[in-house]
Amino acid sequence: MSSPPTPTPLVVGIDLGTTNSLAAVRAGKGARVLRDRDGEPLIPSVVCFHPDGRTIVGREAKALRLSHPDRTVFSVKRLIGRSVRDLDAEVRSLPYRVVAGERDLPRVQIGDRALSPEAISALVLQEVKATAEQALGAPVQKAVVTVPAWFDDAQRQATKDAAALAGLECLRILNEPTAAALAYGIDGSKDGTALVYDLGGGTFDVSILRIDDGVFRVLSTAGDTHLGGDDFDNLLVDRILASFAKAGSSARPSDPYVLQAVRAAAESLKIRLSTEGSATLDLDLDLDSTDGGGRLSLTVTRAEFEAAIAPLVQRTLDCVQRAVKDAGLRIDQIDDVVLVGGSTRIPLVRERLEALVGRKPHTGVDPDLAVALGASIQADVLAGNDRSLLLLDVIPLSLGIETLGGAVQKLILRNSTIPTSRTEEFSTGVDGQTSVDLAIYQGERELARDCRQLGRFKLRGIPAMPAGLPRIAVTFLVDADGVLRVNARETRTGVEAGIQVVPSYGLSRDEVRQMMLDSIENAQADYLAREAIDVRNKAEAMVRGTQKALQMAELPPDQTYAVQKAVKALQKLLAANAEAAALKAGCDDLTKVTASIADDVISSAVTKALREEEQR
Ligand code: AMP
Repeated sequence: MSSPPTPTPLVVGIDLGTTNSLAAVRAGKGARVLRDRDGEPLIPSVVCFHPDGRTIVGREAKALRLSHPDRTVFSVKRLIGRSVRDLDAEVRSLPYRVVAGERDLPRVQIGDRALSPEAISALVLQEVKATAEQALGAPVQKAVVTVPAWFDDAQRQATKDAAALAGLECLRILNEPTAAALAYGIDGSKDGTALVYDLGGGTFDVSILRIDDGVFRVLSTAGDTHLGGDDFDNLLVDRILASFAKAGSSARPSDPYVLQAVRAAAESLKIRLSTEGSATLDLDLDLDSTDGGGRLSLTVTRAEFEAAIAPLVQRTLDCVQRAVKDAGLRIDQIDDVVLVGGSTRIPLVRERLEALVGRKPHTGVDPDLAVALGASIQADVLAGNDRSLLLLDVIPLSLGIETLGGAVQKLILRNSTIPTSRTEEFSTGVDGQTSVDLAIYQGERELARDCRQLGRFKLRGIPAMPAGLPRIAVTFLVDADGVLRVNARETRTGVEAGIQVVPSYGLSRDEVRQMMLDSIENAQADYLAREAIDVRNKAEAMVRGTQKALQMAELPPDQTYAVQKAVKALQKLLAANAEAAALKAGCDDLTKVTASIADDVISSAVTKALREEEQR
């Protein structure tokens, strides 16, 4: 008897969004979104911790935002993998309480419970998983989860952790723009550049992708974390409230229920204006007023709406131009324009974007579903069903470790295609040192103080040796999800230690961009600061090396005196924190004295000591 064929493992693609989340699965040549029992694909990324003890996720939770503002958590994606310090302004605008937990990580305080953003995201993912399982009639254990292209290691790792908490093995963290491009059939089989324009409810992202030999690289990103359809709604809300006021209504805009009803009416008006030339709103707020003050009829034309939102649309276009420029491209070098997010259904958005880029955007895929659909295509590749596609991404900022004097030695450069790894050898700086501290940094600047520390660890158990002798191989490995592991190994003894970068904080896309700009602006100053550190390290090594050599060599007293004099002069300069040029001159003087010694005893000893120092 033969065993039944093993069913192909189900791997779904999940778009874990700020506002809504959803799952999709590959079906035949295409992909299909997994809908709930009511046929709804979008699950609001909202969790309500009801006072009656229930945890409610999705549409029902969204409806409870008003009645339980302090117990209903939304937009948790804005918090994940970041620190409270980084989130300061963001946190103040939220109706629920965010407090600082261990390592300054945010915790959402609900009654006496302090929940991590990962745990709350996990509840959303569980709901997505349950919906997918119900739609497929089979268990789902594996997924590809998407994140914004500008998410850093910590934010990616935190998203992976959330998936694990939800009982999902996350096979890959995929960049949202890459997923969107895939959904539109940009599958890497043709080289080119794509512009992904993602305008949702609360955020705007634009990414420029380069596709070469099946490899997707994010060349640049830009956007605004607080710009989207909600802002268009707000403009209409203002208009409606002004009409109420003009009509002498008694409706109070400060009442949250009135405001919510007005906001819902504004959104529906906006959506109708995407297909109609004008739309009329008949609002009855059902207030206990006898003067009919709760009733309003208002007609808004598409032209009026477009005039109101035009400045906001222009802001998105400014970002597009910036992203194209940052990618080192001209706008006419963009091959494909891909639309993501519900607000790209607005005709003015499409028209203005088309006019700017000079290309018709692809519109064949529902912009709300594109990211999940694309993720499901990648999921299928990882499940082993489709071997024609190879998808790779790049890391957004360089990674390195702090070396002597506070400089950063970069091991993995920004834009390296992942997965990637690199090993470099370092050594100790002090005689008899039995442990080294390794501090890991992310950023483009030369000095550790200007980069972001991602984590640190200690390598212990190094046998006591003279400085520069231990050989410590440090390996940086960034896996396919962009998660970093660092390992250090003393090669003689084999002692080793390592760390997987823990999400102590994350960076927003704006911060990544700012760090890039800072590195360009400060390039000259950084170069000089780095040079000063290098010269100082060299001078210190020369002093140490020469002193050792003097002990080993038997020199005539006059030569010993000359060498000692040059060493002392250099030590004096070091003690006085002399500038790089003076230290360099001091090093040169010492080299001259040692080089002139006939039997080369000292210069060879110094050269050896220096070589060891350089390896560090
Ligand atoms: P997303 O965050 O991608 O789900 O996008 C949600 C945003 O898209 C909300 O602000 C919606 O009001 C908006 N939206 C959805 N459909 C339309 C439409 N047909 N016209 C204009 N805006 C829309």
